[in-house]
Amino acid sequence: MRELSDIEAWRQFAHGERVAGRSVGLVPTMGALHQGHVSLFRAAKAASDVVIATIFVNPRQFADENDLARYPRTLEHDRELAAECGVDCLVTPTLDEMWPDYPDCTPTTVSVRGIGDVFEGADRPGHFDGVASVVAKLFAVTGPSHAFFGEKDFQQLAVVRQLVRDLGFDVEVVGCPIVRDEDGLALSSRNVRLSSEARRRALGLSRALSYVASTSARASTLRATMRTILDDAGIDVAYAEVVDPRTLRPSGDDESGPRRALVAGFVDGVRLLDNGPVTVVREN
Ligand code: AMP
Repeated sequence: MRELSDIEAWRQFAHGERVAGRSVGLVPTMGALHQGHVSLFRAAKAASDVVIATIFVNPRQFADENDLARYPRTLEHDRELAAECGVDCLVTPTLDEMWPDYPDCTPTTVSVRGIGDVFEGADRPGHFDGVASVVAKLFAVTGPSHAFFGEKDFQQLAVVRQLVRDLGFDVEVVGCPIVRDEDGLALSSRNVRLSSEARRRALGLSRALSYVASTSARASTLRATMRTILDDAGIDVAYAEVVDPRTLRPSGDDESGPRRALVAGFVDGVRLLDNGPVTVVREN
């Protein structure tokens, strides 16, 4: 596995592969790799000739300094795991190359209005500007044919799809299913910050989602059911919503059909997200 941190070397590597007629798959990550990331590497391997994975803890997408400082960093382990998964090139760009003006404001920002302003965007101001800006830069430097993102961050996936549509990037965005631990908890780099007691409470998220996935009801009923399960588990709920999977608009009780349930909350100060499919039925 090749390892690069210099933008020009990374651009040249990707360019050389494209010129040689090989398709390039991109997997952007913030490191602290786990089986969720591994599933993206596998999907990328299956769909592209060459896989480039990036590890960059992007400060522009953290609304909270403390969260940024505490974000886990495990480069040695990440390197081994990426190599085992057949990643061809691991890119670990430096902060100075990605955002030369940081910590001063970077004048250029990509903003996805609407779907980037709600849920995570409302609770963490500037978060999706940071995400959209870094993803646009990764696309610009790499020029991938495919880019792989987890449904775990469902809103992020919707923001990236919108960004690709609006800015005309020639890349196919591939959404990959959520990988969970045996107990149902969605894998996340932040899970290492949970005590065993907090982890037990965190299971309320997947419990709420699997309960509503197994029952069809009005959107407002599903919303209330999720909130009750989350409250009972001792989760400090940020939101529990049922939305249109493309626009992320909350569903009304006059709607029927497949939708997405989105939940987020704090457990011992750690913000956790999860989501899953639901079916809403119209009120009679
Ligand atoms: P992160 O390193 O947390 O920024 O995540 C990098 C990519 O991995 C994002 O596209 C995430 O949605 C995806 N990802 C993180 N956790 C999971 C998971 N449990 N299952 C599937 N994809 C995931």
